Amino acid sequence: MKLDSSPIAAIATAPGRGGIGVVRASGKNLAPLMTALFGAQQLKPRHATYLPFTEADGSIIDQGIAIHFKGPHSYTGEDVLELQGHGGPIVLQLLLARVLEAGRDSGLRLAEPGEFTRRAFLNDKLDLAQAEAVADLIDASTEAAAKSASQSLSGAFSNTIHALVEQVTGLRMLVEATLDFPEEEIDFLEKSNARGQLKAVIEALNKVFAQAAQGALLREGLNVVLAGQPNVGKSSLLNALAGADVAIVTPIAGTTRDKVSETIQIEGIPLNIIDTAGIRSAGDTIDAVERIGIERTWGEIGKADVILHLLDADHGPTLADETIVAAFPEGVPVVRVWNKIDLSGHKPGVDSMPDATHVYLSAHEHIGIDLLRAELLRIAGWQQTGESLYLARERHLIALKSAGKHLDIAAAHAAQDDQSLDLFAEELRLAQVQLSSITGEFSPDDLLGVIFSRFCIGK
Ligand code: GDP
Ligand code: ZN
Repeated sequence: MKLDSSPIAAIATAPGRGGIGVVRASGKNLAPLMTALFGAQQLKPRHATYLPFTEADGSIIDQGIAIHFKGPHSYTGEDVLELQGHGGPIVLQLLLARVLEAGRDSGLRLAEPGEFTRRAFLNDKLDLAQAEAVADLIDASTEAAAKSASQSLSGAFSNTIHALVEQVTGLRMLVEATLDFPEEEIDFLEKSNARGQLKAVIEALNKVFAQAAQGALLREGLNVVLAGQPNVGKSSLLNALAGADVAIVTPIAGTTRDKVSETIQIEGIPLNIIDTAGIRSAGDTIDAVERIGIERTWGEIGKADVILHLLDADHGPTLADETIVAAFPEGVPVVRVWNKIDLSGHKPGVDSMPDATHVYLSAHEHIGIDLLRAELLRIAGWQQTGESLYLARERHLIALKSAGKHLDIAAAHAAQDDQSLDLFAEELRLAQVQLSSITGEFSPDDLLGVIFSRFCIGK
């Protein structure tokens, strides 16, 4: 990916109204822009200067603070100019338009999505995993996710990956050196304890993978679908899990017409819970609105990580429940939730059966809700390790897994008597390529394009 250092600008703060809003510009040389904006007044680097932001004709747009970060001591590594004004959408649009106009002669243009962070990456201010952490920190939906993202942003994840790369590189150098002296090849693995070293790398990698996989849960969360007959208590259960009234609870069957989705968290893991429209059996007469709701329900069920099938513990399952169960997609875990045990007299509890786990509770009386929470965490694969987690992405997990596979093959070669050092060396090289793709040392341009284009403008 080529570095374009022509000046760019964008509104850096979120859309909407706020106390302050920031317009940010970056480029190899912002002196012409600053002269056009502020005339003879010089901005001392990294010092806040309070001044009026004016139109070309001298009329005032806003009063605010300008800060000039001289490259390379800036977020992007280039010259950066930040204009902090009041955080209204119109005033910031005016300010941005003014900046673009003032910089027109020096080639200033509107930034593309993620372009500031892409430049930071290309100027070695951040590696790829850190750049991704910027987006993840901004998008974090729970406190735990935000903390893990800052952990990755600070370089903790990158440093761990880097340490693995160095260990693999060390092993490769040993092997390459031995390949240069074929007569000693046979003893190589013994003498240098290459097997022991490789085992240590594999163990370290497995540990990182576990931390990253847990962190990925914090990032992605779990899609939970509430399915079941009208009136079994889906909305009540959603309320009980969320701890707030988010869905409409009424005693009339079929009142939840549209899906209601709510993100709640259990131990920091976001759960995207979808309360489905009551699914009626095919014979029922239903109106158009209800039909759309029902179609949407099946769409959501297809994307679920787990399905909560609610049943009335007092009345038992009905024929319509068989229709619901028959339509569940294969492979998605199902929890049968028997609700209204206050009426049926069942005890709260969890029962692991071959077809599914059964949980007995009362949504309305808040009995047994914690049992269901624990079951959801178990299905998510959440383990309380107390270790710090890395807010990893799917891409990182795939690369770690693939690197692990190559190291395992290398170990298998090393275990054989007819050791082939060439194959051993090649597997180490492939593992290293995978690991390096995480921090971006060996990332192809198209991957970089995809990653940064998912940022929004101004980041
Ligand atoms: P939905 O149609 O499946 O979303 O069902 P709702 O949550 O709207 O509940 C239907 C009715 O069942 C309401 O009157 C609720 O108060 C009642 N209900 C829900 N859960 C319980 C429960 O655990 N015990 C009792 N006794 N009633 C409940
Ligand atoms: Zn409902």
